[in-house]
Formats: sequence, C-alpha cells, structure tokens
Amino acid sequence: MPTHDLIQLRKKLHAMPEIALEEKRTAKEILNFFQDFNPDETLTQLGGTGLAFIFKGEKPGKRLLFRCELDALPIEDLKESDHQSQIPGKGHLCGHDGHMAIICGLGEKLAANRPESGEVVLLFQPAEETGQGANAILSDPNFAQIRPDFAFALHNLPGYPLHQIVLKKGTFAAGSTGLTIKLTGKTAHAAHPDEGINPAAAIAHLIQVLPTLPANFNSFSLVTIIHAEIGSLAFGTSAGNGSLSLTIRAFDQDDLEVLINRIKTEAKRIAELEKLSCEFFLSESFAVSKNDPQIYPIMENVTDRLGLDRIEKSEPFRWSEDFGLFSQTCPSYLFGLGAGESCPQLHEPTYDFPDVLIETGVKVFEGIASEISG
Ligand SMILES: [Zn+2]
Ligand SMILES: [Zn+2]
Repeated sequence: MPTHDLIQLRKKLHAMPEIALEEKRTAKEILNFFQDFNPDETLTQLGGTGLAFIFKGEKPGKRLLFRCELDALPIEDLKESDHQSQIPGKGHLCGHDGHMAIICGLGEKLAANRPESGEVVLLFQPAEETGQGANAILSDPNFAQIRPDFAFALHNLPGYPLHQIVLKKGTFAAGSTGLTIKLTGKTAHAAHPDEGINPAAAIAHLIQVLPTLPANFNSFSLVTIIHAEIGSLAFGTSAGNGSLSLTIRAFDQDDLEVLINRIKTEAKRIAELEKLSCEFFLSESFAVSKNDPQIYPIMENVTDRLGLDRIEKSEPFRWSEDFGLFSQTCPSYLFGLGAGESCPQLHEPTYDFPDVLIETGVKVFEGIASEISG
C-alpha cells in the first residue's frame, strides 16, 4: 500500500474523532480497511468496540500482539487543516489516528508477507484515554484466542526529534489511579454546627497529610490533590458531606498498590476521629507500563538495522498508558517515536500527528515481527 493511502486514512480518522467507548464508526472504518488484507481471523466487538486481525505463519511459534488505540479526546481540535475534526468538542489530539494508520500499514505488510512462524495479532483497542480499554480487552472471553506471548505498542512523543526511537529498560511509564474519598457526616444549622458533623476539618487534614505519604518509597511516587468539595453554598447550613479527589502515581506497581492502601487507611483513621463515614471510588486506573528486559536487544537490532536515531531514557515518564495492563500479563515493550521538538504537546488543541511517522512506525513494528517470527 502506498503510504499515501495510509495518510489518507489517518486524515479521515482525524476528521471523525470518537471518544472512549463511542468508537463505533472508527472501528467500522478500520474493518473496511482490512477487507483487502484477508487476515486469517478477525475478531470484532472485543472489549466493546475493539478489533483484532490475526495473521498466521505456516510453522508453529510465538504469538505477537501489536496494539493501537481507537479513541480520541473530548477536546476541541483547533488546528485548521483539510482534515480538521468535524465533530465539535472532540479531537484526535493524542495521535491515536496515526497509531491506527501504522498498525494498518503493518496489516498491509503482513497480508503480502505472512510471518514464517507463529501468529501476529493486530489489536485496535478502545478507550485508552480513560484507562478502561485494556482491561475490557483482557476481560473479554474472546481474548483467550489472542492471548499473546509478547505484546508491543508505541506512542508518538512530541518534544523528541522526529523519527527518534525512545527506549527504556524496566518501567517506561508510571501507573496511576484517580481516587475519590467521600466523607459523610450530618448537616446542621450554621448557628449550631456542634449539632452536626462537618467534614471540613477532616478534608483540610487529608489535604495536608496525603501528599506527604509517598516520601518513604524507594522509587518515584506522587499524590496530587485534584478536587475538593464541602457542603454547598448555603450560608445557613453547616456542611454535612464532602469529598476529596486525588491522583496517585508510582513507577513500581507494588508501590502503587501499597500507596493506595496507605491513603485509604489514613483517610479511614481521620474519618473515624471525626465520626464521619468514609467511602472510596477508584477511577481512571492505569497499571505501570513495564518493559521486559529480554526484548531490549530486539529493539536495538531493529533500530540499528533501520538506521534510526535511538535514545535510552534514564527516568520513566510520569504519565500513564493503559498498555501497562498488557505489560503486567506478558513480556511487553512500549516505546516512544519522536514527533518533533517543535510539535505541540499531546492533548494540546493544535496537536496533529505528523504523517511522516507512519512509515517509520510500520518499519519498526515490521522489524520486530521479523526478528521474532522470521
Ligand atoms: Zn492521550
Ligand atoms: Zn495516547
């Protein structure tokens, strides 16, 4: 397939962004695109709107999975172009349109040239941005048919030179989760707050204490206060409920889980002291994206062979990717593809995936597949 067709596809997807869990038209577009490629098997409605295309080799061998994301963001696309978003308030501002075009390009290569051994699975995953999609795929009963021996994904990286491959041993991106602590007491007349139970002091205390909890971990972890709410704007009423929302992140999956538990224990302790009841709600949970050390030499070989500029990052990224959940279940590798030093950052309203990266992404994935499967 000429790269031209992949660029046209990328632009088409860019103009019709669909956000997490709504990616029906996008999935249909991808399904149509694969019609000429004759995959050996096609799975649809995986974990909702997800799709998987399976290309089989003649000999038995490893099953490799290459994953991209179907979803866009609920952010207005402000970059004027011939492919600007036609959907108000929604835009492909994380470059998942480009990632899809890359996996489509890999599909075209596999259609012409099946792997020698094993299988290659091309996975189009829904709802990456909300951290729901990888979990939905892994929990789908049909996932058993594509459970991989190795999984791969890339993310484009603004701020890094165009085409540069960004590798990282161990943790590539942090795990994170949103946590809302809901406190319930009792409202009272503002003239008699002593007759109610007001959560204000407990919330003030939690705001002070919770961000200090990560201090005694070996690797990076962070608690960020996101939102707080106490009662309502009624001057005659002493508040009887409140909530505090935070984002918890860590480079180590065990640290992340320990930290969540510590926060819950501390919140329960403070709530009890103040005679408040306390509930917890986790949301937008992302596992740590951990790269398998066995795969690093493969990445070195592939980038060397392609003559691509490569750097190894010393610190993981603090943001999260829900590919992390795959990396917790099989040997995996997530790497970065530089999108240019002057490219707007991801999720900025003028971001637009650089089309020149499509070919590079296809070549790297194709190189990985041929290193492992021949
Ligand atoms: Zn994103
Ligand atoms: Zn993304």
